[in-house]
Amino acid sequence: MITTVRGTRDILPAETPSWRVLEETAREVFAAYGYQELRTPVFEQTALFARAVGATSDIVEKEMYTFADRGGDSLSLRPEGTAAVVRAFIENNLHRSLPWAVYYMGPMFRYERPQKGRYRQFHQMGCELFGAEGPLADAEMMAMVLRLLRRLGVDASLTLEINSLGCMACRGPYRTQLFAFLQEHVAALCEHCRQRLQRNPLRILDCKGEGCRAVARQAPFMKDHLCGACADHFQGLTTLLTALNLPFVVNPLMVRGLDYYNRTAFEVTTTALGAQNAVAAGGRYDGLVAEMGGQATPAIGFAMGMERLALLLDAAQVKLPRPDIYLVVVGDAASRQGLVLAEQWREAGIPVVVDPLGGSMKSQMRRADRLQARFVLILGDREMTEQGLLLKNMANGEQVFLKWETAVAQLSALAA
Ligand code: ATP
Ligand code: MG
Repeated sequence: MITTVRGTRDILPAETPSWRVLEETAREVFAAYGYQELRTPVFEQTALFARAVGATSDIVEKEMYTFADRGGDSLSLRPEGTAAVVRAFIENNLHRSLPWAVYYMGPMFRYERPQKGRYRQFHQMGCELFGAEGPLADAEMMAMVLRLLRRLGVDASLTLEINSLGCMACRGPYRTQLFAFLQEHVAALCEHCRQRLQRNPLRILDCKGEGCRAVARQAPFMKDHLCGACADHFQGLTTLLTALNLPFVVNPLMVRGLDYYNRTAFEVTTTALGAQNAVAAGGRYDGLVAEMGGQATPAIGFAMGMERLALLLDAAQVKLPRPDIYLVVVGDAASRQGLVLAEQWREAGIPVVVDPLGGSMKSQMRRADRLQARFVLILGDREMTEQGLLLKNMANGEQVFLKWETAVAQLSALAA
């Protein structure tokens, strides 16, 4: 038996209605804030992610699905969405039409240890905004994320955490201080953090290991070493969040896993999902477009994990689809006639489910019941002789007889 690949899963029909609610609600909310949809390829040149996400990031170092294609090019399945959006922005000369506000949704791929809420193929939806520099954009984006979560009914156990990661000017000197501090406490760090002390000391701040966390709490914080411009930006953001009545927590240890962030970083976490507590994450990446070869353009974005949202989604919002009209056909001649009639009705825009298995009237009625059909049409021997159909209202049991030639008009009134 061939099964799914480890870390991947089927989203079965019992679950797809929740996914549709997620997707449709997100599209509405994003559109209401002026975002348009962008669809990029599922694989890209490996170099794109190495440069945009960062060669020393966990994603590029350990989690990417990278392969050589038959022509010998190194390609990777996308592990996140921002790199490709930036590539598309540059490749299509979109700096001429700022602001550029786009959203995406779709599968991402990371070679991780699978567990609840953590998969190797998972789905993200996210937004990216190019051209806006000030904290207004940051605050509005957070307001949008929280509005979406509220609309989905998943906001009860959520916290908005923010931090500032500084900029080119202030992060360098801070990094030197942090490095010196961490070196003094190297004995208390985990193996992995000791290895990345040189390359990426900031990441040690959000290591989940007990020893590292104790060290991190005593470490110098970026937010206390911001340059004037970054401090103003962060102050502006907190003022706006307060004006918007959006509660937030400043988490000086939140550094984000992707190398490209600067200034504002934010996460929305939940207490309802156990270890996989991050629902949405994002931040500003003002230097990335230039870094990737485009014209310097400020930008901010976020991504949210759809599997985690699906686990949290308020079930009351999910309506299972139920057929309006279910056609029960008893006997061979009736089956043929039923198929012809159903196609005529569908041609007229009337949705109808024809029982696909046939058999006794009783077993077909049972299937109609299971799908919670609103109306059942019966076509058996007697109806064949009379060139008609029996229409049964499943809510009250009422039955009426329809002639084949006038059924379309009567049925379209029902389906409306
Ligand atoms: P985590 O700390 O949980 O690994 P991350 O920092 O790697 O998250 P991001 O790269 O910021 O996550 O991705 C944004 C969101 O995508 C996360 O907040 C999470 O909801 C979701 N996500 C990330 N990786 C996975 C995964 N392997 N399976 C399911 N969802 C994921
Ligand atoms: Mg991760």
